[in-house]
Amino acid sequence: MDKAQIIQKINKLKKEKNAIVLAHTYQNIEIDEVADFSGDSLYLSRQAAAANADIIVFAGVYFMAETAKILSPDKTVLLPNLSAGCAMADKINAAQLREFKKNYPSLPVVCYVNSTAEVKAESDICCTSANALNVVKSLNAKEVLFVPDKHLGAYAQSQIEGVKVITYPGFCPVHHAITVDDIKDKKLLYPDAKVMVHPECPDAVTQTADFVGSTTAIIKAVKQSKAQEFIIVTEKGVVQRLERDCPDKKFVLINEKAVCETMKLLHLEDILRSLENNEYEIKVDEKIAARALKSIDRMISINA
Ligand code: SF4
Repeated sequence: MDKAQIIQKINKLKKEKNAIVLAHTYQNIEIDEVADFSGDSLYLSRQAAAANADIIVFAGVYFMAETAKILSPDKTVLLPNLSAGCAMADKINAAQLREFKKNYPSLPVVCYVNSTAEVKAESDICCTSANALNVVKSLNAKEVLFVPDKHLGAYAQSQIEGVKVITYPGFCPVHHAITVDDIKDKKLLYPDAKVMVHPECPDAVTQTADFVGSTTAIIKAVKQSKAQEFIIVTEKGVVQRLERDCPDKKFVLINEKAVCETMKLLHLEDILRSLENNEYEIKVDEKIAARALKSIDRMISINA
Protein backbone atom coordinates (compact mmCIF):
# COMPACT_ATOMS: atom_id res chain seq x y z
CA MET A 1 0.00 0.00 0.00
CA ASP A 2 1.32 3.44 -0.80
CA LYS A 3 0.93 6.45 1.49
CA ALA A 4 -2.17 7.79 -0.28
CA GLN A 5 -3.92 4.41 0.08
CA ILE A 6 -3.05 4.22 3.79
CA ILE A 7 -4.43 7.72 4.36
CA GLN A 8 -7.59 6.82 2.44
CA LYS A 9 -8.09 3.67 4.54
CA ILE A 10 -7.53 5.57 7.80
CA ASN A 11 -10.07 8.23 6.82
CA LYS A 12 -12.61 5.56 5.85
CA LEU A 13 -12.17 3.75 9.17
CA LYS A 14 -12.43 7.01 11.11
CA LYS A 15 -15.86 7.59 9.58
CA GLU A 16 -17.06 4.02 10.02
CA LYS A 17 -15.97 3.84 13.66
CA ASN A 18 -16.70 7.45 14.62
CA ALA A 19 -13.05 7.87 15.56
CA ILE A 20 -10.70 10.84 15.68
CA VAL A 21 -6.92 11.00 15.60
CA LEU A 22 -5.00 13.37 17.87
CA ALA A 23 -1.37 14.15 17.02
CA HIS A 24 1.18 15.68 19.38
CA THR A 25 3.51 18.36 18.00
CA TYR A 26 6.52 16.03 18.40
CA GLN A 27 5.04 13.28 16.21
CA ASN A 28 6.40 12.38 12.78
CA ILE A 29 4.86 15.11 10.63
CA GLU A 30 3.14 12.59 8.31
CA ILE A 31 0.71 11.84 11.17
CA ASP A 32 -0.70 15.37 10.81
CA GLU A 33 -2.15 14.28 7.45
CA VAL A 34 -4.73 12.12 9.22
CA ALA A 35 -5.02 14.10 12.46
CA ASP A 36 -8.24 15.83 13.43
CA PHE A 37 -6.34 17.91 15.96
CA SER A 38 -2.62 18.62 16.38
CA GLY A 39 -0.99 20.38 19.30
CA ASP A 40 0.26 19.99 22.85
CA SER A 41 -0.90 17.28 25.22
CA LEU A 42 -3.44 19.22 27.25
CA TYR A 43 -5.00 20.84 24.18
CA LEU A 44 -5.38 17.38 22.67
CA SER A 45 -6.91 15.92 25.81
CA ARG A 46 -9.41 18.74 25.92
CA GLN A 47 -10.30 18.09 22.28
CA ALA A 48 -10.72 14.42 23.15
CA ALA A 49 -13.15 15.30 25.94
CA ALA A 50 -15.13 17.73 23.77
CA ALA A 51 -15.29 15.53 20.67
CA ASN A 52 -18.41 13.66 19.72
CA ALA A 53 -16.38 10.53 18.97
CA ASP A 54 -16.48 6.95 20.22
CA ILE A 55 -12.80 6.24 19.66
CA ILE A 56 -9.76 8.45 20.22
CA VAL A 57 -6.50 7.36 18.60
CA PHE A 58 -3.80 9.22 20.50
CA ALA A 59 -0.64 9.71 18.46
CA GLY A 60 1.60 10.61 21.36
CA VAL A 61 3.08 8.91 24.42
CA TYR A 62 1.49 6.87 27.19
CA PHE A 63 0.80 9.60 29.78
CA MET A 64 -1.04 11.64 27.14
CA ALA A 65 -3.37 8.77 26.29
CA GLU A 66 -3.94 8.24 30.02
CA THR A 67 -4.81 11.92 30.47
CA ALA A 68 -7.24 11.72 27.55
CA LYS A 69 -8.85 8.65 29.12
CA ILE A 70 -9.18 10.41 32.50
CA LEU A 71 -10.90 13.36 30.79
CA SER A 72 -13.02 11.10 28.54
CA PRO A 73 -13.84 8.01 30.61
CA ASP A 74 -16.70 6.94 28.33
CA LYS A 75 -14.61 6.91 25.17
CA THR A 76 -12.24 4.24 23.92
CA VAL A 77 -8.74 5.69 23.93
CA LEU A 78 -6.15 3.90 21.81
CA LEU A 79 -2.36 4.27 21.88
CA PRO A 80 -1.02 2.59 18.72
CA ASN A 81 2.28 1.52 20.31
CA LEU A 82 2.55 0.64 24.00
CA SER A 83 6.32 1.21 23.89
CA ALA A 84 5.68 4.92 23.38
CA GLY A 85 6.57 6.04 26.89
CA CYS A 86 7.97 9.28 28.29
CA ALA A 87 11.37 9.21 30.00
CA MET A 88 10.39 12.18 32.16
CA ALA A 89 7.10 10.64 33.35
CA ASP A 90 9.01 7.43 34.16
CA LYS A 91 11.32 9.29 36.55
CA ILE A 92 8.78 9.22 39.39
CA ASN A 93 6.07 6.80 40.50
CA ALA A 94 3.44 7.12 43.24
CA ALA A 95 5.64 5.47 45.91
CA GLN A 96 8.56 7.77 45.13
CA LEU A 97 6.28 10.80 45.29
CA ARG A 98 4.91 9.68 48.66
CA GLU A 99 8.51 9.39 49.94
CA PHE A 100 9.33 12.86 48.59
CA LYS A 101 6.23 14.31 50.27
CA LYS A 102 7.20 12.79 53.63
CA ASN A 103 10.08 15.31 53.83
CA TYR A 104 7.67 18.22 53.34
CA PRO A 105 4.38 17.01 54.81
CA SER A 106 2.46 20.27 54.70
CA LEU A 107 3.45 21.53 51.25
CA PRO A 108 1.19 21.42 48.20
CA VAL A 109 2.36 19.35 45.23
CA VAL A 110 2.31 20.73 41.70
CA CYS A 111 2.58 18.02 39.11
CA TYR A 112 3.55 18.63 35.48
CA VAL A 113 1.09 16.85 33.16
CA ASN A 114 4.06 14.88 31.82
CA SER A 115 3.51 12.32 34.56
CA THR A 116 1.58 9.11 35.11
CA ALA A 117 -2.03 8.99 36.31
CA GLU A 118 -0.94 7.63 39.71
CA VAL A 119 1.43 10.58 40.21
CA LYS A 120 -1.30 13.04 39.23
CA ALA A 121 -3.54 11.28 41.76
CA GLU A 122 -0.96 11.90 44.52
CA SER A 123 -0.70 15.61 43.64
CA ASP A 124 -2.76 18.66 44.55
CA ILE A 125 -2.79 20.31 41.15
CA CYS A 126 -1.45 19.72 37.66
CA CYS A 127 0.24 22.22 35.39
CA THR A 128 1.47 22.43 31.83
CA SER A 129 4.54 24.19 30.50
CA ALA A 130 2.16 26.97 29.43
CA ASN A 131 0.51 27.59 32.79
CA ALA A 132 3.11 26.45 35.40
CA LEU A 133 3.71 30.01 36.67
CA ASN A 134 0.01 30.77 37.13
CA VAL A 135 -0.61 27.40 38.78
CA VAL A 136 2.21 27.93 41.32
CA LYS A 137 0.98 31.48 42.03
CA SER A 138 -2.61 30.26 42.45
CA LEU A 139 -1.61 28.23 45.50
CA ASN A 140 -0.68 31.35 47.51
CA ALA A 141 1.95 29.27 49.31
CA LYS A 142 5.44 30.30 50.39
CA GLU A 143 6.80 26.87 49.42
CA VAL A 144 5.56 24.29 46.93
CA LEU A 145 6.77 20.90 45.75
CA PHE A 146 7.15 20.48 42.01
CA VAL A 147 7.36 17.11 40.18
CA PRO A 148 8.77 15.57 38.09
CA ASP A 149 10.62 18.23 36.02
CA LYS A 150 13.32 20.05 37.98
CA HIS A 151 13.93 22.44 35.07
CA LEU A 152 10.33 23.59 34.67
CA GLY A 153 10.18 23.95 38.46
CA ALA A 154 13.39 26.02 38.44
CA TYR A 155 12.01 28.19 35.66
CA ALA A 156 8.86 28.83 37.70
CA GLN A 157 11.05 29.68 40.68
CA SER A 158 13.06 32.17 38.59
CA GLN A 159 9.91 33.97 37.46
CA ILE A 160 7.96 34.18 40.73
CA GLU A 161 9.07 36.28 43.67
CA GLY A 162 8.43 35.12 47.22
CA VAL A 163 7.80 31.45 46.49
CA LYS A 164 10.29 28.65 47.03
CA VAL A 165 9.80 25.88 44.47
CA ILE A 166 11.25 22.61 45.76
CA THR A 167 11.82 20.33 42.79
CA TYR A 168 12.02 16.57 42.35
CA PRO A 169 15.18 15.64 40.41
CA GLY A 170 13.41 14.54 37.22
CA PHE A 171 13.94 15.88 33.71
CA CYS A 172 13.28 15.26 30.04
CA PRO A 173 16.48 13.77 28.56
CA VAL A 174 15.84 15.48 25.22
CA HIS A 175 15.74 19.00 26.70
CA HIS A 176 18.14 18.31 29.58
CA ALA A 177 20.93 17.51 27.08
CA ILE A 178 20.79 20.97 25.48
CA THR A 179 23.64 23.24 26.60
CA VAL A 180 24.61 26.90 26.52
CA ASP A 181 27.45 25.93 24.15
CA ASP A 182 24.83 24.62 21.71
CA ILE A 183 23.20 28.05 21.77
CA LYS A 184 26.55 29.84 21.34
CA ASP A 185 27.46 27.62 18.37
CA LYS A 186 24.18 28.34 16.62
CA LYS A 187 24.34 32.07 17.44
CA LEU A 188 27.77 32.25 15.74
CA LEU A 189 26.18 30.89 12.57
CA TYR A 190 22.90 32.84 12.87
CA PRO A 191 23.68 35.99 14.89
CA ASP A 192 20.34 37.67 14.10
CA ALA A 193 18.19 34.65 14.94
CA LYS A 194 15.80 34.81 17.88
CA VAL A 195 16.38 32.06 20.45
CA MET A 196 13.10 30.31 21.33
CA VAL A 197 13.48 28.00 24.34
CA HIS A 198 11.19 25.42 25.95
CA PRO A 199 11.21 25.63 29.79
CA GLU A 200 12.09 21.92 30.10
CA CYS A 201 15.64 23.07 29.23
CA PRO A 202 18.21 23.75 31.99
CA ASP A 203 18.14 27.14 33.68
CA ALA A 204 21.39 28.30 32.04
CA VAL A 205 19.80 27.68 28.63
CA THR A 206 16.51 29.46 29.36
CA GLN A 207 18.55 32.47 30.51
CA THR A 208 19.98 32.86 26.99
CA ALA A 209 16.50 32.96 25.43
CA ASP A 210 14.72 35.75 23.60
CA PHE A 211 11.52 33.85 24.35
CA VAL A 212 10.67 31.02 26.77
CA GLY A 213 7.44 29.11 26.32
CA SER A 214 5.58 25.88 25.63
CA THR A 215 5.57 24.41 22.14
CA THR A 216 2.24 26.09 21.45
CA ALA A 217 3.55 29.42 22.76
CA ILE A 218 6.75 29.17 20.69
CA ILE A 219 4.78 28.45 17.51
CA LYS A 220 2.41 31.36 18.21
CA ALA A 221 5.28 33.76 19.03
CA VAL A 222 7.15 32.84 15.83
CA LYS A 223 4.05 33.40 13.71
CA GLN A 224 3.48 36.83 15.28
CA SER A 225 7.14 37.89 15.14
CA LYS A 226 8.56 40.18 12.47
CA ALA A 227 11.93 38.39 12.78
CA GLN A 228 13.01 36.12 9.94
CA GLU A 229 15.33 33.62 11.64
CA PHE A 230 14.76 31.49 14.73
CA ILE A 231 16.86 29.02 16.69
CA ILE A 232 14.32 26.51 18.01
CA VAL A 233 15.41 25.04 21.34
CA THR A 234 13.03 22.13 21.74
CA GLU A 235 12.09 18.92 19.95
CA LYS A 236 12.56 18.59 16.18
CA GLY A 237 8.83 18.23 15.45
CA VAL A 238 8.32 21.91 16.26
CA VAL A 239 10.82 22.91 13.57
CA GLN A 240 9.16 20.66 11.00
CA ARG A 241 5.74 22.19 11.68
CA LEU A 242 7.08 25.74 11.61
CA GLU A 243 8.83 25.09 8.28
CA ARG A 244 5.53 23.81 6.90
CA ASP A 245 3.42 26.67 8.29
CA CYS A 246 5.88 29.59 7.81
CA PRO A 247 7.79 28.87 4.58
CA ASP A 248 9.03 32.47 4.36
CA LYS A 249 11.00 32.20 7.65
CA LYS A 250 14.16 30.27 8.54
CA PHE A 251 14.27 27.79 11.43
CA VAL A 252 17.34 26.17 12.94
CA LEU A 253 17.02 23.18 15.26
CA ILE A 254 19.31 23.60 18.27
CA ASN A 255 21.00 20.27 17.53
CA GLU A 256 20.22 17.07 15.67
CA LYS A 257 19.93 15.14 18.94
CA ALA A 258 16.83 17.10 20.00
CA VAL A 259 14.57 14.24 18.99
CA CYS A 260 12.22 12.30 21.26
CA GLU A 261 12.67 8.72 20.08
CA THR A 262 9.47 7.37 21.61
CA MET A 263 7.41 10.13 19.96
CA LYS A 264 8.82 9.00 16.61
CA LEU A 265 7.72 5.38 17.00
CA LEU A 266 4.43 6.00 15.22
CA HIS A 267 3.91 6.03 11.46
CA LEU A 268 0.78 6.07 9.34
CA GLU A 269 0.78 2.25 9.22
CA ASP A 270 0.53 2.18 13.04
CA ILE A 271 -2.49 4.49 13.02
CA LEU A 272 -4.17 2.24 10.47
CA ARG A 273 -3.42 -0.95 12.45
CA SER A 274 -4.65 0.71 15.63
CA LEU A 275 -7.96 1.61 14.02
CA GLU A 276 -8.36 -1.79 12.36
CA ASN A 277 -7.71 -3.80 15.52
CA ASN A 278 -8.68 -1.34 18.28
CA GLU A 279 -5.07 -1.41 19.53
CA TYR A 280 -4.09 -0.67 22.25
CA GLU A 281 -6.86 0.35 24.56
CA ILE A 282 -5.74 2.49 27.51
CA LYS A 283 -7.47 1.91 30.82
CA VAL A 284 -6.96 3.78 34.08
CA ASP A 285 -8.00 2.40 37.46
CA GLU A 286 -11.23 4.19 38.40
CA LYS A 287 -10.09 5.34 41.85
CA ILE A 288 -6.78 6.64 40.52
CA ALA A 289 -8.56 8.31 37.61
CA ALA A 290 -10.99 10.09 39.96
CA ARG A 291 -8.14 11.48 42.09
CA ALA A 292 -6.03 12.42 39.06
CA LEU A 293 -9.05 14.19 37.56
CA LYS A 294 -9.26 16.40 40.66
CA SER A 295 -5.69 17.62 40.05
CA ILE A 296 -6.40 18.25 36.39
CA ASP A 297 -9.76 19.95 37.07
CA ARG A 298 -8.18 22.19 39.70
CA MET A 299 -5.68 23.36 37.09
CA ILE A 300 -8.41 23.92 34.50
CA SER A 301 -10.52 25.85 37.04
CA ILE A 302 -7.84 28.52 37.50
CA ASN A 303 -8.19 29.17 33.78
CA ALA A 304 -4.44 29.57 33.31
S1 SF4 B 1 10.22 15.05 24.70
FE1 SF4 B 1 10.76 14.52 26.84
S2 SF4 B 1 8.96 15.07 28.07
FE2 SF4 B 1 8.30 14.97 25.90
S3 SF4 B 1 7.55 12.88 25.63
FE3 SF4 B 1 9.72 12.87 25.01
S4 SF4 B 1 10.83 12.28 26.90
FE4 SF4 B 1 8.75 12.89 27.53
